[in-house]
Amino acid sequence: MSTIASNLQAVRAEITSSAALAGRPDDAVHLLAVSKTFPASQLREAYQAGQISFAESYLQEALNKISDTADLPIEWHFIGPVQSNKTRLIAEHFDWVHSVDRLKIAERLSAQRPACFPGLQLCVQVNISGEATKSGVSPCEVSELAHAIVKLPNITLRGLMAVPAPSDEMPVQRAAFQRVRQLYDQLNREGLKLDTLSMGMSHDFRAAIAEGATMVRVGSAIFGNRIYNKG
Ligand SMILES: *Cc1c(COP(=O)(O)O)cnc(C)c1O
Repeated sequence: MSTIASNLQAVRAEITSSAALAGRPDDAVHLLAVSKTFPASQLREAYQAGQISFAESYLQEALNKISDTADLPIEWHFIGPVQSNKTRLIAEHFDWVHSVDRLKIAERLSAQRPACFPGLQLCVQVNISGEATKSGVSPCEVSELAHAIVKLPNITLRGLMAVPAPSDEMPVQRAAFQRVRQLYDQLNREGLKLDTLSMGMSHDFRAAIAEGATMVRVGSAIFGNRIYNKG
């Protein structure tokens, strides 16, 4: 078995055991393979090992891989910062966008989503740890933004996404994810019909699942360590 296939198997087993530990069903957590910086050949390897959903952060790199794997029925997720001048290509090439934190971006994605496509699946990114440099809307503003986005055509608001400040301590990880979960519950009480909590990466997906994550975004635990060569 290839390294990627055996890593995938190990990550899936940990997802299953974390879900069981939290009393959640086996299929409660969807795995996204975060393939940024890795070549299309490695995505193919993961696909052959049963992985269908992939996530990318850098648009140009992603577009190259989407075209290189056009023969595969991959579900594409965009999880990087979205600039206004990138919305058209994102609306035309992705199934999901997890990293929306401004109404203007959601409006552009909505207007630029081709009419013959299914609605673009959206998550609002929340800046849960209050870091000034991080993207994401502040927790106090998430409700207003979500209620505005849900009215847009060609878009389906699915839930919230967060990247908490990194920590090695499970209780610290869980506390941050719990705050995201509470915001999500509050939005559903306000009448939004959200079903997606996109949270948890290689180092903290176990804590995220314990707090209710329905999608985890795992890169290095599947593909190995990333080498960035961006200037
Ligand atoms: C890179 C990235 C991930 C995956 O991180 P790993 O630590 O490699 O699992 C998940 N989410 C976002 C938003 C990312 O940018």
